Amino acid sequence: MPSLDSNIEYLKGVGPQRAEVLKKELGIFTCRDLLFHFPFRYIDRTKFHKIRDAHNEGEQVQFRGILRRLETLGEGRARRLVGSLRDETGMIELVWFQAVQWLEKSLVVGKEYIVFGRISEFNGRFNITHPEMEEVAPVSGGEPATPSSGGSRSFDPVYPSTDKLTQKGLDAKGLRKLIRVLLDGLAPAELPETLPDYLTAQYKLTSRREALYNIHFPANQQDLDLATRRLKFEELFFLQLRLLQIRTRRKDSIRGFVFSNIGDFFNTFFNEKLPFELTGAQKRVLKEIRADLATGKQTNRLVQGDVGSGKTAVALMTMLMALDNGFQAAMMAPTEILAQQHFTNITELVGELGVNVGFLSGAIKGKKRAAILEKLAAGDIHIVIGTHALIEDWVQFKNLGISIIDEQHRFGVEQRAALWKKNPAGPPHVLVMTATPIPRTLAMTLYGDLDVSVIDEMPPGRKPITTTHRNEHHRLRVQGFMREEIAKGRQVYVVYPMIEETETMDLQNLMSGFEALSRDFPTPQYQISIVHGKMKAADKDFEMQRFVKGETQIMVATTVIEVGVNVPNASVMIIENAERFGLSQLHQLRGRVGRGAEQSFCILMTSFKLSAEGRERIQTMVRTNDGFEIAETDLRLRGPGNIEGTQQSGMLRFLLADLARDGQVLTAAREIAMRILEADPNLAAPEHVRLRQHLASEGKEARVWSRIS
Ligand code: ADP
Ligand code: MG
Repeated sequence: MPSLDSNIEYLKGVGPQRAEVLKKELGIFTCRDLLFHFPFRYIDRTKFHKIRDAHNEGEQVQFRGILRRLETLGEGRARRLVGSLRDETGMIELVWFQAVQWLEKSLVVGKEYIVFGRISEFNGRFNITHPEMEEVAPVSGGEPATPSSGGSRSFDPVYPSTDKLTQKGLDAKGLRKLIRVLLDGLAPAELPETLPDYLTAQYKLTSRREALYNIHFPANQQDLDLATRRLKFEELFFLQLRLLQIRTRRKDSIRGFVFSNIGDFFNTFFNEKLPFELTGAQKRVLKEIRADLATGKQTNRLVQGDVGSGKTAVALMTMLMALDNGFQAAMMAPTEILAQQHFTNITELVGELGVNVGFLSGAIKGKKRAAILEKLAAGDIHIVIGTHALIEDWVQFKNLGISIIDEQHRFGVEQRAALWKKNPAGPPHVLVMTATPIPRTLAMTLYGDLDVSVIDEMPPGRKPITTTHRNEHHRLRVQGFMREEIAKGRQVYVVYPMIEETETMDLQNLMSGFEALSRDFPTPQYQISIVHGKMKAADKDFEMQRFVKGETQIMVATTVIEVGVNVPNASVMIIENAERFGLSQLHQLRGRVGRGAEQSFCILMTSFKLSAEGRERIQTMVRTNDGFEIAETDLRLRGPGNIEGTQQSGMLRFLLADLARDGQVLTAAREIAMRILEADPNLAAPEHVRLRQHLASEGKEARVWSRIS
């Protein structure tokens, strides 16, 4: 009898050689790993297409027929294996370009196969390239009994496999056999229920054992749906439970500084210096933060808001609350340019109040740096603004009351915690601000242990930015438009893509674009700034400043200007090769204009031919200015793992759940987890024993895994 923790090698039918390949190819070390190697699709044995009807290119089809011919044709790269499949309605060609030799040996002419693949058309004839082939097994009695052995089974699982596995007999069918052996051999105690009975009853969830069986061997679509629903819920629920438990524990165990006063700094600023009326959303979020800061618990809050929604004012006023209570405050930004800009603005706003504002970045060196470090440690600097340099080892504060992290998506999740250790008096409050909205489901996962505030209102008087899609044919008209806007006294951004992999070409592109613009917009009438990542910091800053001061009318740049830069007089954003940017990046870039009172424009220049996805990105930008809507589309198009800043997050690796599609399940899972923890924070109640045990065992597995890898 296998147990879930046994080495996969000892499962009947595996042995040392296959175990080796399973480990290497699929990361399957134990029987548990095999059990959680879920199918990626199922063969529905009741649904076959007729070959006669196969004439929709791109359509996925499943045929059942006899292999009538098999031969190798062509030489070198054109070498291919070609077969013909016949059913009672017709004949279709099957083509393989890879694993030709091996397939030639294993496929047998005259046998019956189930063939799965996509129809393609070549020279006016339909074929299937690289179909999945499965021999129709001769009818055999005695299928092992299943927990849901209702009618006859018509669904067969298909597992992710590889060539190497296939050669060891572990194709979809081989894996299917192993998993069946495993499931049939497991004692019921090996698959214990993890959810309280009241939950499974209330939400009509299949038992865990049944779900794990049916995810592999469903009798029909309904069984499969129920199994999937149960396992998705479980996956999301336990993650939420863990995240919310972190939050609860932190609140219970870490004492936070109490900011009980609203004092002179805050009040004088609010009454005399704040240059505008706060929006309703800014007020609400400030109240939420203020309430946190008075509780005596450490605040960990995410502030979400669209580009231009006024997060900086909220950050500044929060820092003033700290100052009013005798604490220092820090604000960390992801780039030098952005940190500089915050420093300039904030110094201007609060300098006269007697607040000492300091600046620290990698560019501040030697004596200057030493002086700042000394003042931070002595408490002579009240507010410090800086880059990553703030979290380096040698930075120490006297009494840091709050750290604010701007544009969180540019920082690793771990860096969030790094500012804590800077303070002899204990952990400061932490406020995290996003640059652009994050889809709700992602926020609940990536920042699931934080409280969340949303600034969902724009400052009044903003005219929505007009976005258009243009190509090379429109180049002259676009230039004419630039001239008109510049004649009105406005400024223009022209942004080029720049990524590491194609850096040299990108740089060439940028430079030739700059040269062309210099010809079309000649001095002395026009002045052009240029900023890119390969320039020295001082040169970048110089060019940037010329644009900020209005000495240049055009700014040619890479995405270094993407984050945070504020030039209210700039009213046109032209993005070259816009199809190469992600949606959130495009939205960020567009957010650089529309900051003044003037009507602003965003022009997306693309090549003529766009991929379907590229086209949808551009169309989304043209259609809407709503950052939350754009974030949702981005998630749907690219999947959670590709959203900026989430690539390394293991938290987003789900077996079944899909954050782009399972929002409802996630919301339910989070709400249920929250309710449970509110009533029973330590999961001490008898009905929560299973939850506690499962969380503990998951923790144990995670540790084992980290030792292996
Ligand atoms: P973001 O949320 O993108 O960081 P900022 O804080 O940079 O946005 O604010 C964008 C612009 O809007 C700034 O010029 C800021 O001074 C201005 N602003 C912020 N709040 C208000 C408000 N309530 N009324 C008018 N203008 C505001
Ligand atoms: Mg900002």
